[in-house]
Amino acid sequence: MAFPFQPAITAPRQTRVRALRRLAVRLWDQALQPLCLNCRIDPEFNHGLCEKCLQLISFNTTCCDICARPLTQNLICGQCQKNPPSFDGVLTPLLYLDPVNRFLCGLKYREQFSFARFAAGVIASHALKTPQKTPDMICPVPMTSKALRKRGFNQSAFIGQLIAWQLGIPMSGKWIFKTRDTPHQSDLKAPERQNNLKGVFDCKCQVRGKHIVIVDDVLTTGATANELSKTLKKNGASRVDIWTCARTA
Ligand SMILES: [Zn+2]
Ligand SMILES: [Zn+2]
Repeated sequence: MAFPFQPAITAPRQTRVRALRRLAVRLWDQALQPLCLNCRIDPEFNHGLCEKCLQLISFNTTCCDICARPLTQNLICGQCQKNPPSFDGVLTPLLYLDPVNRFLCGLKYREQFSFARFAAGVIASHALKTPQKTPDMICPVPMTSKALRKRGFNQSAFIGQLIAWQLGIPMSGKWIFKTRDTPHQSDLKAPERQNNLKGVFDCKCQVRGKHIVIVDDVLTTGATANELSKTLKKNGASRVDIWTCARTA
């Protein structure tokens, strides 16, 4: 009578062992798999976020063809028609809305450096989708040494370095520099804004005939990007593009 039950006694043991092994492997995989930077619950899927949190992000799909200002349709905004900027192209895939604004503020003000990986990943993957010649060099938006000492790091250089590694483009934070501290553009009235950044950047490297990409976390008024681009063009750069993670409305 024992024979018919023998397999039924041994089989559950084997299944239990296999099930325990499967569980151990799954737990080990989960322990090693990075969690989503936003919810901290689900495993990371792309650019540091899980599939659910990636759905929360707003893309900058309809915007000005020149400055990427969000618009209801793709055309050239009034400001670019009146005063075309000195840069040649803008790549800014996301809108500066929740949760992207939280991520970029976390990086800038709370030293949450993992969000640099998110910003760089988004920029690099969109740059790869954009048909264009590989740029010659990447320059992050520079800070003065006083501002750098105060914050301790330059978030644009963090993002720029990660993009440079991903796309194999040279980058240095020492090629262009900021000569003086300036009040924030949003603290100034319109006429003061125009002079605030005049001649504030200088170039230390040979940029003649080069295609340069300026990297920053967020594009707001575009005044800094415009002034940097003017400086690079004055020094002979053939093309200047602006790459940022997000664009304000
Ligand atoms: Zn998530
Ligand atoms: Zn525009």
